Amino acid sequence: MDSWKSFDLLNPTDEHKMLRDMVKSFVQSEVEPQAHKHDKAEKFNLELFKKLSTLGLLGITVPEHYGGSGMDATAVVIAHEELSASDPGFCLAYLAHTLLAVNNLAVNGSDAQKKKYLPGLSDGSLVGAMAMSEPDYGTDVLGMKTSALIEGDHYVLNGRKMWITNGSVDENKTPCDFVWVYAKTGEGGGRPLISTFIVEKGDAGFYVGQKITDKLGMRASNTAELVFENCRISADRLVGQEGDSMHHMMRNLEIERVGLAAMALGIARRSIEIMNKYATERSAFGKPLNHYGQIQKYIAESYAEFRSAQCYVYETARKLDLTKEGNRLDSDGTKLVATTMSKNVADRAIQVLGGYGYVGEYHVERLWRDAKLLEIGGGTLEAHQKNIARDLAKSGLARLGF
Ligand SMILES: Cc1cc2nc3c(=O)[nH]c(=O)nc-3n(C[C@H](O)[C@H](O)[C@H](O)COP(=O)(O)OP(=O)(O)OC[C@H]3O[C@@H](n4cnc5c(N)ncnc54)[C@H](O)[C@@H]3O)c2cc1C
Repeated sequence: MDSWKSFDLLNPTDEHKMLRDMVKSFVQSEVEPQAHKHDKAEKFNLELFKKLSTLGLLGITVPEHYGGSGMDATAVVIAHEELSASDPGFCLAYLAHTLLAVNNLAVNGSDAQKKKYLPGLSDGSLVGAMAMSEPDYGTDVLGMKTSALIEGDHYVLNGRKMWITNGSVDENKTPCDFVWVYAKTGEGGGRPLISTFIVEKGDAGFYVGQKITDKLGMRASNTAELVFENCRISADRLVGQEGDSMHHMMRNLEIERVGLAAMALGIARRSIEIMNKYATERSAFGKPLNHYGQIQKYIAESYAEFRSAQCYVYETARKLDLTKEGNRLDSDGTKLVATTMSKNVADRAIQVLGGYGYVGEYHVERLWRDAKLLEIGGGTLEAHQKNIARDLAKSGLARLGF
């Protein structure tokens, strides 16, 4: 009768627990030793990224018959929380590949497209990215200017995409292998028709405009501007039908946002570990720092806020079906609450460490810089606020049974 009480929200099955242990051990031996160095050098560790395939992480949600691990949204959250607890920049590159590009294809692509790309994207031979944002259009996504026009059995793409994580894989503007591109293909019912295309490295007219440098955080991931200049691709690179993109985008944005919220959990957890240890070991005026009420407030509030966000993220992931849309309210809700929580927790950690918190060796300044991106990328806080208020106006709290 009471068996439900032993349910572990964070590791609901043995497979989830094994995944967490495996990623944790990989993070300790391979990710942590390079995190600080790659942040300082603003370099993406491509070699380490490819190694994630040995753990089955690159195709984590890809069905096994396409070469992936066939896991669910909870597994996605576990992988992102664990990687981000060490190196959020590296984890962002992982997220852009695994969720923005690969999961999008696994859910929305045709069987032929999946057979062609998913095995390589899952085994590390191909690196993927997703290109939605443009220099003049971010939140206002329907305003995008990148266009695709059909010419015989080809489409011709023209436009520029901005801020594309993994857009370039190195310092020499080498593009990634696979880009999931959103482009305008006309108008319908007074609205722009947005369609999805697969562009490959080597396609004529596709190149990296610039690698964006000197970012505040997430410096271990590459961000690039991608250019499509009369880029000719065969018509079979269209995903689904012309005008289908709103479905692709909306369905995929849900897991993207939950993945970004999971990254925020990793940042907060690590920050709490660091400030708690420091406050126990460091003394001032003859007593450990954690003896003082103001320091206790930083630690206690951080812990309670982290645990609240963690429960919300895992509960949302538990219910999220990767093949269906309909979870926008809570996927936006988790990202809204977890990202600002992680930035605040990292900020308090810096404060608890005093001057030491302000330098790289103690990690928390990097975590704080990385946390800020999560309030912008994958949807700004303001976009989540609007979506949530809009969805609640339609449905109230009915989904909670009230
Ligand atoms: C490091 C990094 C990595 C990224 N990776 C990718 C990627 O891989 N692929 C990709 O496609 N994009 C990526 N992005 C882009 C990211 O998703 C956008 O930056 C984000 O969606 C915001 O768009 P914007 O920068 O154009 O800002 P804008 O949309 O111009 O917003 C500027 C400000 O205005 C606010 N605002 C806008 N509209 C409204 C409104 N109606 N009401 C109230 N406030 C509003 C915003 O909330 C924000 O505060 C990345 C960005 C960064 C910085």
